[in-house]
Amino acid sequence: MFKFCPACGSRNIRFENNKVFRCPDCGFLYYHNTAAATGLVISTSEEIVLLVRAKDPAKGKLDLPGGFIDPGESALEGLRRECREELGWDPGPHCTLFASFPNVYPYRNIVYNTCDLFFTITVPGLKAGDFTLEEKEVAGLRFIKPRDITLEDMAFDSGRRAIQAFLKSGRQGEE
Ligand SMILES: [Zn+2]
Repeated sequence: MFKFCPACGSRNIRFENNKVFRCPDCGFLYYHNTAAATGLVISTSEEIVLLVRAKDPAKGKLDLPGGFIDPGESALEGLRRECREELGWDPGPHCTLFASFPNVYPYRNIVYNTCDLFFTITVPGLKAGDFTLEEKEVAGLRFIKPRDITLEDMAFDSGRRAIQAFLKSGRQGEE
């Protein structure tokens, strides 16, 4: 990420342990910490709502709504903001945290290590017309029964694991 020390301009800056930039010449330190992000499994009690990604990374693949948590936000606040932005829809405060997985998100030449927090909410009768998609980010919606999701179609490893955890939790409302 840094080829030169941003403080003294030295070329000797090193990235150590996949975590910290350290300059041996002036002592500059920068921790490239794990970023927190959220994802939401929206269930109609029969199907769940997946987004088709309009942009790279993983353009055309399926994803859960959500994203990075901004500075000063709680996880739920970040999740609700991302849902309003991506879907034009606010899940409200009654989302339940059910799993957390690490993820790796390459974006514009920087690799972000994230810790993704997965929530779920069940809204019977929810339909495509309830959403207004952010077209730059979201190419479309898929309503899919959780058991019918092909995990390889999911954009990210953490999302794959979240779907598996959701199925195991018995929250899908089938049966
Ligand atoms: Zn330096």
